Amino acid sequence: MVRHSLLPSYDKTNPPAQPKKKRKTQKKVPVYLCGTCGCDCVDTPQSEADQSVNCDICGVWVHYVCAGVSDQSLESVDKWFCSKCKC
Ligand SMILES: [Zn+2]
Ligand SMILES: [Zn+2]
Repeated sequence: MVRHSLLPSYDKTNPPAQPKKKRKTQKKVPVYLCGTCGCDCVDTPQSEADQSVNCDICGVWVHYVCAGVSDQSLESVDKWFCSKCKC
């Protein structure tokens, strides 16, 4: 299971990136669309609402909130399946 969860250690000595215009444009960032709401699942979530999980069967990304899961509930499972693959 792959997760896009909040960074575990938010170092105070290492403030978040400055919101300058400089963005990562060298590499093409893959866009994952949530299998439930169709919105982007970001690689580096800035809030709990941005966190997402990857289905181990079909590979779809789904937001935690859309899947009804949490970091805690995912800790206890090795794999996660989306609602379509669960059945
Ligand atoms: Zn979603
Ligand atoms: Zn699936």
